[in-house]
Amino acid sequence: MNFIVINEPFQCLNCGAKVPTQKGSCRNHCQVCLYSRHVDAEFPGDRASQCEGLMAPTGLTQSGKKGWILLHQCIKCGRTIRNKLADDDNMDLAIALSRNPLP
Ligand SMILES: [Zn+2]
Ligand SMILES: [Zn+2]
Repeated sequence: MNFIVINEPFQCLNCGAKVPTQKGSCRNHCQVCLYSRHVDAEFPGDRASQCEGLMAPTGLTQSGKKGWILLHQCIKCGRTIRNKLADDDNMDLAIALSRNPLP
């Protein structure tokens, strides 16, 4: 099994949008619908998971230094992972998520 290249454009599995790379960050979620893919096992960017399930955005939380953190839950295995929100992500959707009660 090959490692997945960390920072390259990909096509969203949920909405089909082409997601460009982001400078200085390893983006792993769609900027349009905020869906992600379960490729990280222990921490963002490790690409150690072999699940590869679709991850739904479930909430937004703020973490002092890091700024806004997007919470994703894997539809396949149920694991939750936190991801930093990017500047060009869909802010309307992110704000709607921030009103969700956190799990
Ligand atoms: Zn999408
Ligand atoms: Zn999973």
